[in-house]
Amino acid sequence: MVNEFATPQLDQLLCSVSKPVGCILDKALADQEISVSDALVLFQTRGLDLLALTATADELRRRQVGERITYVKVRNINFTNVCYTACKFCAFGRPEKDAEAYTFNLEEVVQQAVEAWNWGCTEICMQGGLNPKLGGDIYLRLVRAIKTALPNLHLHAFSPFEIQYASQLTGKPPEYVLRELKEAGLGSIPGTAAEILDTDIRQVLTKNKLSAAAWIEIIKTAHRVGLPSTATIMYGHVDAPHHWANHLALIRQIQRETGGFTEFVPLGFIHQNTRLYTEGQARPGPTGPEHLKMHAVARLMLGQDIPNLQVSWVKLGPAMSQMCLSAGANDFGGTLINERISRMAGATSGQYMPPEEFERLILDLGRIPAQRTTLYHILREGQRHYNPARPQTMRSFEASQPIQSVMVTTQPCHFEAVGREIYGAPQQC
Ligand code: SF4
Repeated sequence: MVNEFATPQLDQLLCSVSKPVGCILDKALADQEISVSDALVLFQTRGLDLLALTATADELRRRQVGERITYVKVRNINFTNVCYTACKFCAFGRPEKDAEAYTFNLEEVVQQAVEAWNWGCTEICMQGGLNPKLGGDIYLRLVRAIKTALPNLHLHAFSPFEIQYASQLTGKPPEYVLRELKEAGLGSIPGTAAEILDTDIRQVLTKNKLSAAAWIEIIKTAHRVGLPSTATIMYGHVDAPHHWANHLALIRQIQRETGGFTEFVPLGFIHQNTRLYTEGQARPGPTGPEHLKMHAVARLMLGQDIPNLQVSWVKLGPAMSQMCLSAGANDFGGTLINERISRMAGATSGQYMPPEEFERLILDLGRIPAQRTTLYHILREGQRHYNPARPQTMRSFEASQPIQSVMVTTQPCHFEAVGREIYGAPQQC
């Protein structure tokens, strides 16, 4: 039977799939809602069924957001790694007296932000450990310091867990904390610390972290006060497909209520150096087909409500990112200068992706590169940086020419000054 909503090539593929999968993909192509039980079937696909799932997700992506693949010029600042929460999936947090513990002061943070601005970054993404020495007003002080120096920079900062922590330390309700931060210039918040929004799973991952209910409440409050956020999932540890399907449905439900999510970002678990893995509780991260299915099913379940689906190149690596961008995703994420998100946990994809490398990888897919803002306004479109005659792109922030001139004129920040290499950052960031 011909599917009136599919391209001829996709229609041919759909003729070869199993009946249950074919029915669900037909529904998706007709813009009907994909249920949790549909998603469970899709998460079990293999072979031709999986191929048809990714092709369907790619077709929906084309309809919903077109051929652009976007990226943002952003610097990550993880202002402290001191944290006593001891999440088992995190290899970043350190006790205060640990030899690798660090905390940047306000001047150092502002300096890093200024460097990023001089380089052309439009965003600073900032998160840190929960350092009791810093006090509950640290978040407000950080926002004020950065926005005073750089009023036009978009500040994307502080997970719902950090908001809850600020609320506990200051005695102010989360809504008050969020309103104060917004008034000080905060532009949006990361929807990290979500992991899997399931109480049993969270009990295994981290007993001391905020509950699923608290995450949902703080995210909804942020959206209500006018602070958009991303939405995330961390998958491939002690979780199973039914947790993924429920998580996606929950994110969809929140979005229908608030409209505050800017994008959905699947974050594959990086296992190597985490207690969760070394103590034998978790498997070694998602497999390749699981990465593909996560992105494809997310497109089918969320695409109409959250059109932007981001790949985490630092977790997937460039090649797997390209695969996921062919399976429903449309955003490559950020340059992530000083990315420490997954390094401590064992990821090896680097700390920085220059614009020319984004362009090379995007053009290789036959799509259109576009630099965007945090909130998905397009700044530039087309091939502007990548030169096929010089295909070697700079893979480190320090090595890229425009930055060098900025770097040599600035004071070294704390961790550079003591010659210490800081590896990780919160796994979920
Ligand atoms: S994930 Fe965040 S809260 Fe948990 S231990 Fe790491 S830094 Fe601390």
